[in-house]
Amino acid sequence: MIDLHMHTSRCGHATGDISDYVEAGRARGLDVICFTDHLPMPAPYPQHYTMRAAELPAYVDDVLVAAALARDAGGPEVLLGIEADWLPDAIPPVQEAISAHGFDLVLGSVHFLGDWAFDDPDLVARYELWPPDALWDRYFEEVAFAAGSGLFDVIAHPDLVKKFGSRPDRDPQAWYEQTAVALADAGCAVEVNTAGLRKPVGEIYPSLEMLKACRRRGVQATMGSDAHSPAEVGEGLGLARELLLSAGYDSVVCFRKRVAREVPL
Ligand code: ZN
Ligand code: FE
Ligand code: FE
Ligand code: ZN
Repeated sequence: MIDLHMHTSRCGHATGDISDYVEAGRARGLDVICFTDHLPMPAPYPQHYTMRAAELPAYVDDVLVAAALARDAGGPEVLLGIEADWLPDAIPPVQEAISAHGFDLVLGSVHFLGDWAFDDPDLVARYELWPPDALWDRYFEEVAFAAGSGLFDVIAHPDLVKKFGSRPDRDPQAWYEQTAVALADAGCAVEVNTAGLRKPVGEIYPSLEMLKACRRRGVQATMGSDAHSPAEVGEGLGLARELLLSAGYDSVVCFRKRVAREVPL
């Protein structure tokens, strides 16, 4: 099993350091883990969701050291990734940071609609300002732009808009199809992310219907726990595998040096 999404204490809202996550991955018998700490965002975006920009080289070095140690210790394979925000008005600095560090995997995430970090539990009051359909329109429009930007290998938690229970009045299928087409056109993979199981929505990102739409369009899939503590490494991946099988997938992809390789489920 592979787990291609996890964070460490560097971001300020996760606990545990790199070695704790590697140990957890080994204890759970994972074959591959990929660190994907949050990429620092340029000002005026808030600085408290990520490591500081000056820490990025140390993050890269620390993951590479951990990878070498894990190789000698018999696993798991440790990959160097990053989770980058889709910030439509800050593409050049994000592009530059992504290309400067030789990542194995770049996850792209829509966490912001304008200046609103809509997945921040401290900012949930702002949901009241949006009719749900307008919110879902706006969110999935950004997901399509993110996929089409060419910045990312994978779109993470692709229906994150449901995190706190937001549900549209309209049938969501059109948004799912639109997203699947955008991912397919861009050659971007979809992430099956189990963090939603631990959130108010109580389900995996994305929904089975969205994953089926991706499958029909030939979009490749990855999987990750989005662990923010060592105890969460690998959590829910059995359910993710079942969801993938239900959607018609028989393999996922793992990325090394940003090249996808299939892994049978
Ligand atoms: Zn995080
Ligand atoms: Fe995220
Ligand atoms: Fe994450
Ligand atoms: Zn995340």
